[in-house]
Amino acid sequence: MTAGVYLIHFDVPYHHARHYVGWSGDIESRLALHRKGSSKARLMEVVHDAGIGWHVAWVWPGEDRTFERMIKDRKHTARFCPICRGRMQMSLWELLEGAPAFALDWDAIEEIAF
Ligand SMILES: [Zn+2]
Repeated sequence: MTAGVYLIHFDVPYHHARHYVGWSGDIESRLALHRKGSSKARLMEVVHDAGIGWHVAWVWPGEDRTFERMIKDRKHTARFCPICRGRMQMSLWELLEGAPAFALDWDAIEEIAF
């Protein structure tokens, strides 16, 4: 049982949403509810209903709701997300290597280009 704030990265964006940030006193149980689509968190429920996969990108153990609010208030959640940061680096590397533009993930670049 871990209390803290967690960051979920959606495999496919839901409209403009690519992340969900939540706090729980028991993150493991909370994630199990998210997996079943029964967590009462609106965004996670619609993502579940849409059949979109997701991964826990990061956990901040011991952080509280104030911290959760701080992360949520930032428009560029991607900067906190290792998955997005990794894709960004990969995209830039492909750009430098002359990869075709259509192979780049422009959504990820736009989201992290703060
Ligand atoms: Zn992400």
